[in-house]
Amino acid sequence: MAPKKLAAGNWKMNGVTASLVELDALAARENGCDVLICPPATLITPAVAHAGEIAIGGQDCHANESGAHTGDISAAMLADAGASHVILGHSERRADHGETDAQVAAKAIAAHGAGLVTVICVGETEAERDGGDTLDVIASQLAGSVPDCATAANTVIAYEPVWAIGTGRTPNSEQIAEVHALMRDKLSGRFSDGADFSLLYGGSVKPGNAAEIFAIAHVDGALVGGASLKASDFGPIIDALAQA
Ligand code: PEP
Repeated sequence: MAPKKLAAGNWKMNGVTASLVELDALAARENGCDVLICPPATLITPAVAHAGEIAIGGQDCHANESGAHTGDISAAMLADAGASHVILGHSERRADHGETDAQVAAKAIAAHGAGLVTVICVGETEAERDGGDTLDVIASQLAGSVPDCATAANTVIAYEPVWAIGTGRTPNSEQIAEVHALMRDKLSGRFSDGADFSLLYGGSVKPGNAAEIFAIAHVDGALVGGASLKASDFGPIIDALAQA
């Protein structure tokens, strides 16, 4: 089995009911690869009705099944709402909510238990890159955030350099290639199907740079923030992946 190509969109805290016209436009396209949209939790159920072949995911879940956790959402609730995937360990969650690798792994176990595919994010800060620590940071986040129950069928890994998210800056092709090769190596060393995990790049992917990024070895798709909000931006990114 080869890694599946996946174009994933993270709407973050953007989108209201009227935004679902963007999903209508994506669903009406001939996409040519798997497409995932992760809208805010409030839109998951209505999004499913607009999504056609497009998968719908959450942006986080709690590690517990239920209980006194005001404002949180369990993996089973996401699945019940119609989600098939969940993003975990996004750098904004790690920074804003202090999420640790161990917490991300616990959430991933819960998500897999609920039948969700996890999109587990890793990425170095600018200081870590400048300090020459990128590969150590990625290896450590992968080891700590990806649980032993991960398989190529239930887990996607997204490399998202923190300094590239929402900034318009991207690593060069060699830098992306180096990290993706490391991730492939680490996953292959740990999991019998490690060669089949889909590895996404995320951080300022746009229609203008998508084809170059998708030509890099072991880049099987993208996790896209800002450019996933409009079908007119995300569509050309999907096309670039389908043609890669
Ligand atoms: C993201 O939030 O995962 C992301 C990659 O954002 P952007 O594409 O806007 O940099």
